[in-house]
Amino acid sequence: MSTALVWFRRDLRLADNPALSAALERHEQVLPVYIDDADAESPWAPGGASRWWLHHSLASLEHHLRALGSRLILRRGGSLEQLSQLVTLTGAEAVYWNRLYEPAFVGRDKHVKEVLRESGLIAESFNGALLFEPWQLKTGTGDPYRVFSPFWRNAQPRLQERLANGQVPLPAPTALSSPGKLPDSASLESLHLLPRIAWDAGFHQTWQPGEAQAHERLQRFAGGPAARYREQRDLPAVDATSGLSPALHFGEVSPLQLVVRMQRLSASKPVAGIHANAEWFVRELGWREFAHHLLFHFPRTPEVPMYDKFGAFPWRARHEYAADLSAWQRGRTGVPIIDAGMRQLWRSGWMHNRVRMIVASFLTKNLLIPWLEGARWFWDTLVDANLANNTLGWQWSAGCGADAAPYFRIFNPVLQSAKFDADGDYIRRWVPELAKLSGDALHAPWQAKPAVLRAAGVALGQTYPQPIVDLAESRARALAAYERIKAT
Ligand code: FAD
Repeated sequence: MSTALVWFRRDLRLADNPALSAALERHEQVLPVYIDDADAESPWAPGGASRWWLHHSLASLEHHLRALGSRLILRRGGSLEQLSQLVTLTGAEAVYWNRLYEPAFVGRDKHVKEVLRESGLIAESFNGALLFEPWQLKTGTGDPYRVFSPFWRNAQPRLQERLANGQVPLPAPTALSSPGKLPDSASLESLHLLPRIAWDAGFHQTWQPGEAQAHERLQRFAGGPAARYREQRDLPAVDATSGLSPALHFGEVSPLQLVVRMQRLSASKPVAGIHANAEWFVRELGWREFAHHLLFHFPRTPEVPMYDKFGAFPWRARHEYAADLSAWQRGRTGVPIIDAGMRQLWRSGWMHNRVRMIVASFLTKNLLIPWLEGARWFWDTLVDANLANNTLGWQWSAGCGADAAPYFRIFNPVLQSAKFDADGDYIRRWVPELAKLSGDALHAPWQAKPAVLRAAGVALGQTYPQPIVDLAESRARALAAYERIKAT
């Protein structure tokens, strides 16, 4: 009987999984495998919150595989070594997987493929994570795009054409035949993916990892918020976005499944403006796509600014900023919208996109702290931590990346807060000690009259911190720092 291994990585789903479909089409027996190798093989090993998600997503995949009469074989150690052992144990003649685009994995996977092929095996990889391969979209001069608008102007009609030609996601298998004698599997617990300190209580309240749960979330989004996405996606107090970023990161859903769902929604729902809203959502998937293409073409960007001159940027030194960084991380800066965002992140493992932009601007500009400090904190605390999207988001916010907000455009967190959290519901939810304040006092309590603070039970410096920086002075300091590299 011909056997294939399917090496699951960040494609923890059964439907629209090209590697799994190819294995099922070409071989009689299929062995699903997951190898916990990230610690050894990437400088960006998954952070604590991602590992929590991974634990539950693997449990869910195992559950779905068992329902099909199969198992998920878990192994620890180097990928090549584990795959080779499994090939020997099962007599498999092929190994299939879906591609990853992080620099460390591109190199590793190429090596794995070469070695497996040299030993006479079929080793094949597929695109299960992106709408387009990074090498498929180039500028007129053959270079990778660095600006989103022309990138999307090229990508969008090509995507439409594929949909018009009938491209649809691959179906999930209805049965899966595994080798009679299965190789040993590590237990999920032995991978030690769950946090050692009880930090994840809030995660359980907010998230249910797994393919079926991702589709439920998509269903909920398509049934309501999608119709108002464009107007409401910037409002952090409203449940207006899909919340699918961790599911996309772990491949519990594919971007093609989302695009096709939006296409059907546009075609079926007699709601005014649904077409524009669905299109806007697909455009956000375009940003995800752009981020992955950038990471593929500019593999040093997780650590190094896209634009060289930022290498000389006069950030504050670590000993100068350590206390401010800690206040930012703990949501104790004294600026309510910043603290609300950072506390949402710590408790739920996620932060609203608009607030991510505000806290990132505050860190890099008002506090003059290197963007990599922020990127590393997000990496450890986000359930959707994704090297491509996180790098793009941080370099965009710091002004040093592709298609970035110019450095001199500095968000005023108080104005952002008043505009996007006008009623203060988001701040009240995450910073309950300010719940009795309203209006301007809630967005900038340090400017409120003492009587207003007293009436709301707020004592600055006691029940809630004084702001750790003066917003106007720190803005001027950031602009002066930028002047020093502008001319270089
Ligand atoms: P929706 O609005 O429902 O969007 C749907 C999907 O589109 C998202 O799930 C995501 O995959 C993609 N998307 C949306 N906005 C962006 C964007 N600006 N850039 C790239 N893709 C986007 N996103 C991550 O997935 N992982 C990260 O580690 C990450 N780090 C970020 C760091 C900073 C400083 C900033 C400013 C943004 C970051 N983002 C990151 C992008 C964005 O904030 C999240 O993708 C979004 O908030 C996820 O929520 P959602 O799924 O409800 O988004």
